Amino acid sequence: MPRLRLRLATMTAVLALGVTSGAIANPAFADPRQIDKTATATGYDGAVSTVDPEASAAAIEVLRKGGNAVDAAVAAAATLGVTEPYSAGIGGGGYFVFYNAKTGKVSTIDGRETAPAAMSHDAFIDPKTGKPYNFTPELVTSGVSVGVPGTAATWERALERWGTLSLGDALQPAIKVATRGFVVDPTFRQQTLDNKLRFQAFSSTSQLFLRGGDAPAVGSIFQNHDLAATYRLLAKQGTSAFYSGPLAEEIAATVQAPPKTSSTTLPVPVGHMTAADLAAYETVDQAPTHVDYRGLDVYGMAPSSSGGTTVGEALNILDGFNLSEMSKPAALHHYLEASALAFADRAKYVGDPAFIDVPTAALTDPLFGKERACRIDPLHAATKPVAPGDVSAYDGVCPASAAAPAREKDTENISTTNMTVADKWGNVVEYTLTIEQTGGSGIVVPGRGFLLNNELTDFSAVYNAADPNRIDPGKRPRSSMSPTIILKDGAPFLALGSPGGSTIITTVLQTILNRVDLGMSISDAIAAPRASQRNTASVTAEPDFIATYGSQLTPYGHKFTPSGDAFTSAAEIGAATAIEFRDDGLMIAAAEPVRRGGGSAMVLEPSR
Ligand code: GLU
Repeated sequence: MPRLRLRLATMTAVLALGVTSGAIANPAFADPRQIDKTATATGYDGAVSTVDPEASAAAIEVLRKGGNAVDAAVAAAATLGVTEPYSAGIGGGGYFVFYNAKTGKVSTIDGRETAPAAMSHDAFIDPKTGKPYNFTPELVTSGVSVGVPGTAATWERALERWGTLSLGDALQPAIKVATRGFVVDPTFRQQTLDNKLRFQAFSSTSQLFLRGGDAPAVGSIFQNHDLAATYRLLAKQGTSAFYSGPLAEEIAATVQAPPKTSSTTLPVPVGHMTAADLAAYETVDQAPTHVDYRGLDVYGMAPSSSGGTTVGEALNILDGFNLSEMSKPAALHHYLEASALAFADRAKYVGDPAFIDVPTAALTDPLFGKERACRIDPLHAATKPVAPGDVSAYDGVCPASAAAPAREKDTENISTTNMTVADKWGNVVEYTLTIEQTGGSGIVVPGRGFLLNNELTDFSAVYNAADPNRIDPGKRPRSSMSPTIILKDGAPFLALGSPGGSTIITTVLQTILNRVDLGMSISDAIAAPRASQRNTASVTAEPDFIATYGSQLTPYGHKFTPSGDAFTSAAEIGAATAIEFRDDGLMIAAAEPVRRGGGSAMVLEPSR
């Protein structure tokens, strides 16, 4: 069931619900808190789309003062660390994609969390039983799943490469929001409730996020002075204050000995991160992936994320089919089949390229896509899982037989957040950041105001030397994050991305197809019901998708399972953001109208 959307038009309405903080001097007229949300905003000179109005407002404030898209993206991301602390923050990692209007080039930063040096191959085996830890509750709420965070380093690197502001200046809007507080909406309350048992397991976390054992009330004001102080520290000293010194020591100590409450029954396996792991962390400047889809240049995130190769391969597979001429069910059938094939190759070939020889060029080669397209029967869904292709020998000609299918357990969750930002110079940022599960590991670093990630759960739990996503010390777990920038005739046409674990890939792919092939506006493309075929026997789909297309797709042989998982009360897939660019400089910023409580699109100069 989609979550309730907060519709509070005025601060008076907020006051009627009860403000719990004493920090407001004259709230009725002076309160700067952003609560109104618009899913689509159209205009000029700069645009932003995020899941949250405070974050979008932070980006607009920076753009208005003359900052560029990178400055604004960092300001918005830091603000999301305040208002979306269960999805993203400096305790996590992410992938930053940038279109540079000056050079016409797309570049990326890989800020993925990294396994500590002492992480052994059997780190996810319970030493007491010799058997793998259960995913829930053992692994998700643990020190052993915490990767060395990359987000602060990503912000610093992005600003250093392309920004005009210092990190200190870019953090100011977030410091303001953390200090004055934001208005708790139903999504924040629900996410807190979903995590209550985990948050109660740690003194630091319950102190920060619970109020007398309950989640903060809708309409109350949530301040995070600890995070404001941590941001101030980074503003003053740079990220060296995160990756070395007392804060680094505290992060390592928290991972090694999580601050468990005496009453919790959760097992909480400890981790092995050290201050030396933090000191050794580095972001990676990466070339993006690239495919040509119907004359559009589609740039994505290269491994360690599987986003760019998997979205790219699926587009290459579909490039040979004229989806716009097909009936809607036929086009969707092709979408589902292409996605399954690309996921088979993702499982077989993609991992951290620092450890694995990832065939990125082959996976995004149009010839490989053409050969994989041979596996699509226009009238019948293939039996899943489908087999991976052979990247070592392909020529675009349909092969006679297929290799053994890959079987993979998907344990990625549906957290994370995404943003799209553009400035008046034509620069564009697409940035997906996460602490993995909603609520990450559940562990707040005491007194520092942020949650640690549980990103290492993205590794395959049981070591297998042939698995590209096997655990190795110092390695980055395979991600699905798919920040994507699409150029048309060398200029930005569309930038988009989404949260949602491995459904990120299908959400981005489906949204591109909706816009490019099925003739939807970008807002409709985002709002449309979603289905996710990740090479499994049954397609995970939103109830609306099943209601609308289920009966037309079952004759092909597709089976459907309604979306939703054991961890959250939401049945939605993804929470996308996008900006579409028109030739005359018009920008259409689009966010979710309903999912995750609805997102927030803003432009600098609205069109009349
Ligand atoms: N861990 C996921 C990934 O890197 C992101 C988390 C999510 O979206 O739920 O792909």
